Formats: sequence, structure tokens, C-alpha cells
Amino acid sequence: MTDTTPATESSEKPAGLENLLSEDRRFPPSPEFAAQANAHGDLYAWAAADRPSFWADQARELLTWSTPFTQTLDWSKAPFATWFADGKLNAAYNAVDRHVEEGRGDRVALHFEGEGGDSRSLTYADLQREVSKAANAFTALGVGTGDRVAIYMPLVPEAVVTMLACARIGAPHSVVFGGFSAEALASRIVDAEAKLVVTADGGYRRGAPSALKPAVDEALEKGTPSVEHVLVVRRTEQDVAWTEGRDVWWHDVVDSASDQHTPVELDAEHPLFILYTSGTTGKPKGIFHTTGGYLTQAAYTHRNVFDLKAESDVYWCTADIGWITGHTYVVYGPLVNGATQVIYEGTPDTPHRGRWWEIVQKYQVSILYTAPTAIRTCMKWGEEIPAQFDLSSLRVLGSVGEPINPEAWMWYRRVIGGDRTPVVDTWWQTETGAIMISPLPGVTAAKPGSAQVPLPGIAADVVDDEAHPVPDGGGGYLVLTEPWPSMLRGIWGDPERYKDTYWSRFPGLYFAGDGAKKDDDGDIWLLGRVDDVMNVSGHRLSTTEIESALVSHPWVAEAAVVGATDETTGQAVVAFVILRGGAGGADKSGDEVQTELRNHVAKEIGPIAKPRQILVVQELPKTRSGKIMRRLLRDVAEHRQVGDATTLADSSVMDLIAQGLSKPA
Ligand code: ATP
Ligand code: MG
Repeated sequence: MTDTTPATESSEKPAGLENLLSEDRRFPPSPEFAAQANAHGDLYAWAAADRPSFWADQARELLTWSTPFTQTLDWSKAPFATWFADGKLNAAYNAVDRHVEEGRGDRVALHFEGEGGDSRSLTYADLQREVSKAANAFTALGVGTGDRVAIYMPLVPEAVVTMLACARIGAPHSVVFGGFSAEALASRIVDAEAKLVVTADGGYRRGAPSALKPAVDEALEKGTPSVEHVLVVRRTEQDVAWTEGRDVWWHDVVDSASDQHTPVELDAEHPLFILYTSGTTGKPKGIFHTTGGYLTQAAYTHRNVFDLKAESDVYWCTADIGWITGHTYVVYGPLVNGATQVIYEGTPDTPHRGRWWEIVQKYQVSILYTAPTAIRTCMKWGEEIPAQFDLSSLRVLGSVGEPINPEAWMWYRRVIGGDRTPVVDTWWQTETGAIMISPLPGVTAAKPGSAQVPLPGIAADVVDDEAHPVPDGGGGYLVLTEPWPSMLRGIWGDPERYKDTYWSRFPGLYFAGDGAKKDDDGDIWLLGRVDDVMNVSGHRLSTTEIESALVSHPWVAEAAVVGATDETTGQAVVAFVILRGGAGGADKSGDEVQTELRNHVAKEIGPIAKPRQILVVQELPKTRSGKIMRRLLRDVAEHRQVGDATTLADSSVMDLIAQGLSKPA
């Protein structure tokens, strides 16, 4: 991409993005927390001294290898990397069997909480039996090492068992969100040429059974010649259509299978899974990850970023397994580390808006990992709801998925963390496989809203259009400057698209697609997607800072900002806001809200960022993983036909917004 714009006002400004907001609040770790923390500050120097050998040490310490590796990183075919390539291991053995062999079989691996209140706890020994049975059943259904398995399930223990059973036999899994349409499922099955589809009759959502099997049937009618069998877990007992010979009940073939199974020894670079990105910006990409490097960084980050103490912590990551966070921080990271964790099938407000906090209280959850969208929703509902529950077991809070607005960070720490817990804002992507940029609790003095520093072993920078690192205080593009163990190994079946998407913008650097800035201390702040950057009178403004300024007003719970074509300024800022319940804004007229919030943004950031228009809405369009889809809002703001919305969590949201906009203010 070359910049062909003539030299105007904009070229005299610092390249990249403008730095608008500053933040002075600091939260150093307490001495007690620091004293007991897994991570110490000396990790940074150790890793910087020799990065590949640092990772090799982690790989040896955190994983059990059936054949030890002698090679670490091979970057000679960049941008295609291999890590630990001559080593062999099995992911399911590492996540399950070795804990049983080492005397931890009685430890609970999963506390499952169904939406309807049914619950089940599985120990590591239970998990070993279940995974072995499933592995035997999959083999009997003709699935061999290297064959792909599509998973389209609710968040029930069988979903975790299925992923591990695939890993056990070396069949890469491709998990597709249970909320995606038949069409989305079909295209992912076809792209990965899956041989087996594992699903359920349905799952529970918002208090009612929600069917899954019909979408599988519909997907397979579209023509998916690779699929031989559909394996169905009975969860809701809904009636299901049945194709004899193709469809098989889980309880018929898995429950009766032998619970003895030897994990297949696999190369470190054997593909572990394919996962299609969330589709926030456009057509999802089939990202694939391999075994040894991925597991190393999954285990390392889970242990250090969350300060996991496997013997005593109860960990809960609220992500669905259909998202990368569910892969790395529900399945592989915690289980490889021998953690006890909670998994919850349902929605946060079923049957009431305190459901999550009730679960924290019930299981004495000590580490909670969730997304800014969930935090902002709880802000919208009001802090009296979490106040009704005992949250004193919590000791570390994490955030992932989007930039967290400083006010949402403050709310999370104060209301959920009792003004006591470290909060870690973790930046990473499907492509990176594991956390890349994050404070370390016990080490880093946290700043609300900033992911701050690359983890020990990770190299990141912020560069301008010419790939030069920006100085402290400057803004630009986030890049990763050195390969890392859990990096994607490619886009399934499309090596050219891999090179084009990530490695062509800045030769030799991984282009993440996110805007970022460095503050005066050199800490990194994520500023939203490069695709969403606005150009207002020659100023390049990020969405995140204007949204954060809006959320810092007491009336606002959530905000989304887009740039809409404007005759005078090129683009103009248009904001969509959701008001906080009971905070005062809801009683005001649309005009009063407009004036108040426009002036607030001007005061916080400056007149350049003042929205041309502010629209109050009830909901924002989000992906299933909770990310705001700004490109759809841009369509609305520019009065266009709304684009591809197939990865939206709730497709009626766009209609609601359109209706709201057609009403006079
Ligand atoms: P697609 O690539 O298909 O558009 P996606 O980027 O939403 O979808 P994911 O891999 O799930 O798919 O999301 C990664 C992106 O999420 C990052 O590139 C970044 O934009 C955002 N993100 C994740 N964590 C953070 C964070 N802590 N701070 C800021 N942004 C974050
Ligand atoms: Mg992405």
C-alpha cells in the first residue's frame, strides 16, 4: 500500500494516528501480591537475552514431550515458522493424562454449570476416561490422524471432551460457534473438508432450548461431500430429524467405547486446530495452529498473566469455545496447567442479571477472564446487581477482545474486584494463538485502558507508514517484530493470503491490523482497527479514544464511533451510544444528550474529535464474541445498504437501529 495523498496539512503532522487521551491513574501491585506472584520482573531480561532459548526452556518446563526436541525456532522460510520441530508430543496427554499419572487425578478439571442450573463436576481422571472413550469412538467412525472434525456445540463438557479427543488422535478440529447459521457452518465445513461433524440436539439459551441439529442438517444439504458422519450429543431432548447411516448418537457410540486409549505421538508441528476469525472486519480466515509451540505459549501465558496456582485457584473464562479465547484459555492453557475451572453454558442474564456473580460466589472463583462488552453491559445494568453477591474470592481479573475503555477498567476493578485485584488487559488475536501484550500482575504498575507491555519473549512495536518505530507519545500501527511460538502457521489452504494479509504491509514485520500508540513511558495502547480509522480534516483519529471519552461521561455505558463521509471535513465523527440505566441521561431529550456529550468529547479530547452527530441506541451490532462491528454502523451513518452481517450475534439489532434512526429526534 502506498500513500498517494498530496502533501497537505496532514503530512506535517506526526505520521500514523493522533494521540488524544492521556491517563494518569496508576495501580502498582500490592507487596503481598508481588511476593507470591508466579512472574517476576527478571523474566524480561532473561527472555531478551536469547528469545528462542527462553521459549525452549518454557517448552521443556511446561510440557511433557514423548520425544524431546533439539531444534527451537526455524525462521529460514519466513514468514513460515517452525518451533521445536523434531520434538513429539500429544496435546491431550499434556492436558489430561499426565495430571492423572502424576497423582492429580482427583482434582476437579471442570465445574460445568448449565444454564438451567444443572451442574456436573469432572475430575482429571473422569476427563481421561471420557476423552479416551470419545477418541476410540471417533476412530471407529473412520476418523484418522490428519482428518478434520467440525464441532458445532453448546458449551457443555462434551464439547471440551470432543476437542481433546480430536487432539488425542491428531485430527485437527474446527470449532464453529453454535450461534452461526447453517450457511456459515457449511462454508467452514467445506473449507476444512471435515469428515465428522460433532453437534448436539441443542443447548440452552435465554431460558429455552435452542436447536443446533437442524442447522447441521441444513448445512449438509448445501453439499458437503467430505462429511461421513454426524455425531449428536443429547442435551435438550428436542426432537431431531435423523439420517440413517450418517447420524449417530453420542450415547450409543461414545458411552459404550473402551476408556483405554493410547494418545497418538505427534510432531510438534502437527496441526492442532483450524479456527475461523470472528469476522469483525470481513470474510473470516481459516487460521491454523500447530501443537508444540501453541501449547507452550498457551501454558506460559495462562500461568504468568493470570498468576495461576493450580492447587488452589478456581479459574473462569467466560468465552465460548467457538472463539480463540475458548481454545487457549478454556481448553488448552488451563488444562495443560492442571487448573480447576468453571464452564457456563448460558447467557449472563438468565434467569437474572446476577447470574455470573452467583456463579463466582458458588464456586469461589478466584480468577475471572472476560470481555469489555460484558463489563460494559454490567455497567449498564447497574452496580447494585454484583453488590448482592460475595465476590471476595476474586484475586485476578482479565479482559480481552476489544480495547477496554479506562472507565470500564475502573468499574471492573472497583465493583467486581473490590478495589483490590489486579486487572490485566490482554491483547492478542486468533492469529497470535495466545496473549502477546499484557501487564503482569505482581510486576507491572497497571494503567486503566492499556495493555502496556509485550510479554517476556514477545517483541512488538508501533510503527508509522514507513515502518519506522514511532517515538514515545506517537501513534501508528501495531506490529510484531519477532516470530513467537503460538503464531499462526498459515491460513488453511491459502499460503498466499497468509503472506498478503500479515506480511506484505511492512516487509519482515507482522502487521496486526490494529492501530496503537506509545505513551510517554513507552507503554502500548490499542486504538482499534486500522480499517476503522477516521480522517477528519487531515487528522487521523482512532475510534477507541473517542469512544473512551464518551464512556467516561456518567450517562454512557457503551459507545461506538465511525467516520461518515462529510463534504467539508472529508469524514465526520458519528457516535452511537447506549445510556446507563438510572444515570440521568435516559430522562433527557435526544437534543440534550447530543449537546452534553458533544461538549464532553470536546473537553476531554479537543474540538477536532467532537462528533457531528450522536445517536442514542438500545443495542450495538456485535459479533458472537462481543465485538462491535463498526463497518455496519458506517453503512447506517452513510445511508447505505447494510453489508455482510452473517457473523452478527443478533441480526435484528441492525433493524432496530435503522428504525430508531428514522424516528424524529
Ligand atoms: P476478523 O479478523 O475476521 O476481522 P477479529 O479480528 O475480530 O475478526 P479475533 O481474532 O477474535 O477476530 O480478534 C482479534 C482482535 O480483537 C484484535 O486484532 C484486536 O482488534 C481486538 N482485541 C483483542 N484483544 C484486545 C485488547 N486487549 N485490546 C484491544 N483490542 C483487542
Ligand atoms: Mg482480526
